[in-house]
Amino acid sequence: MYWYPERGLGDCNMYVVEGDPTILVDPGSPRYLEGRLREMKKDGLEPEGIEIIVNTHSHPDHCGANRPLQELSGAKIMIHRGEGDHLRFSLEFGRYFGMEVPRFEVDAYLGEKVGGGETELLVLHTPGHSPGSVSLYHAGLRLLLCGDLVFEGGVGRTDFPGGSSEELLASLERISDLHLQYLLPGHGNVLRGEERIRRNFEFVKGHFF
Ligand SMILES: [Zn+2]
Ligand SMILES: [Zn+2]
Repeated sequence: MYWYPERGLGDCNMYVVEGDPTILVDPGSPRYLEGRLREMKKDGLEPEGIEIIVNTHSHPDHCGANRPLQELSGAKIMIHRGEGDHLRFSLEFGRYFGMEVPRFEVDAYLGEKVGGGETELLVLHTPGHSPGSVSLYHAGLRLLLCGDLVFEGGVGRTDFPGGSSEELLASLERISDLHLQYLLPGHGNVLRGEERIRRNFEFVKGHFF
């Protein structure tokens, strides 16, 4: 599992789960793709080795680099079905804020799982920040890639169209029961350790709801 921290405004944390198949989660902004590919190369990862690109949701800071990365890798782009109608809105919204989003097609909607063997991730539908937001759970590592559901000391915005703070709270309750060792959010720091992650859940529930 590799973490490539967000590089600036309009970007997000990118993660790569290496194995068979190799999955890349949220490629971020196209502006930073070249630099990211250089970082990946240092880790021994080539774009051609990426088979699946998963977006935790359709906001432009997460899927901006989908198309250029797909052109390099030939990977399939996957997203939750609940994001289907929201996708177009989300990309237009991005343009409104001056974020580049080269047009891309979703190749398949996410099912209950993605990947296989060591890279198997359970897909948990965790709406609230957007209608089709997902979190991806690796059972062996007790690790969750949670997109913009929750961060260190914060939660995802719910004031964009399709957002809901009740749904976000329900999604938080759902993932609080997982006894995670690693929480890997779409922005900011990665959290390690069950106790630290539990305290972060308590903090955000107390402050934002
Ligand atoms: Zn978002
Ligand atoms: Zn984001």
